[in-house]
Amino acid sequence: MSDTLPISHKRKLIIERIAASAKRAGLNNNQVLTAVSKMQPDFKIKEMISAGQKVFGENRVQESQIRWGNTFKYIRKDIELRLIGPLQSNKALDAVKVFDVIETLDRMSLAKALVRAADKHGSLPKILVQVNTGEEKQKSGVSPSHLPLFLSELKKEYNIKPAGLMCIPPLKEAASPHFWLLKKLTEDYGMEATSMGMSNDFEVAIEMGATHVRVGSALFGPRIY
Ligand SMILES: *Cc1c(COP(=O)(O)O)cnc(C)c1O
Repeated sequence: MSDTLPISHKRKLIIERIAASAKRAGLNNNQVLTAVSKMQPDFKIKEMISAGQKVFGENRVQESQIRWGNTFKYIRKDIELRLIGPLQSNKALDAVKVFDVIETLDRMSLAKALVRAADKHGSLPKILVQVNTGEEKQKSGVSPSHLPLFLSELKKEYNIKPAGLMCIPPLKEAASPHFWLLKKLTEDYGMEATSMGMSNDFEVAIEMGATHVRVGSALFGPRIY
């Protein structure tokens, strides 16, 4: 998508594409667009907020603390902030303070750190479990075959009942089988939220039943590293 369009226009186009995908698949258009603001300049985020965007995704705790605890503190209470990147256990307390939703719970040791942090902070964010649908060695996430045990242990040990599942399919494979699997697992285990689909494949994700899509570069333009 052209990088010269105003942010508000880009957002409108993405929202229209989400609606069209839902319609094609015969689904209600109630999906949530998470604007992935990682590594984006403040002025673009400001434009996105002005355009009416309320749900943002970040993948680093520290970047989010600075951005949403300082720069955009004035608007923070109106925003839903979602952690979509990997979380180290030693950052659990910071994460619990900054985020409304943590999408990347993927191990029991992190669950333990999160409940301890929640005890200190007073509340636990909404939790999604990251699933490694492609069983990739280098990728985080619970493997689909371990998911039943993981979910029952979470409940038994920490009384955590995740709101849903998220995945990042392997780069070099068609995404749809992974999306199909994640949706099926979400339903099989009685959860609500299925977070899947990024700039290149959010329409497929919507068609496969995503409740949340995470779109960064198609909304903001390329990230600045
Ligand atoms: C960066 C990121 C996105 C957004 O990626 P785009 O391709 O820019 O839309 C979505 N999900 C996760 C987990 C990410 O890290």
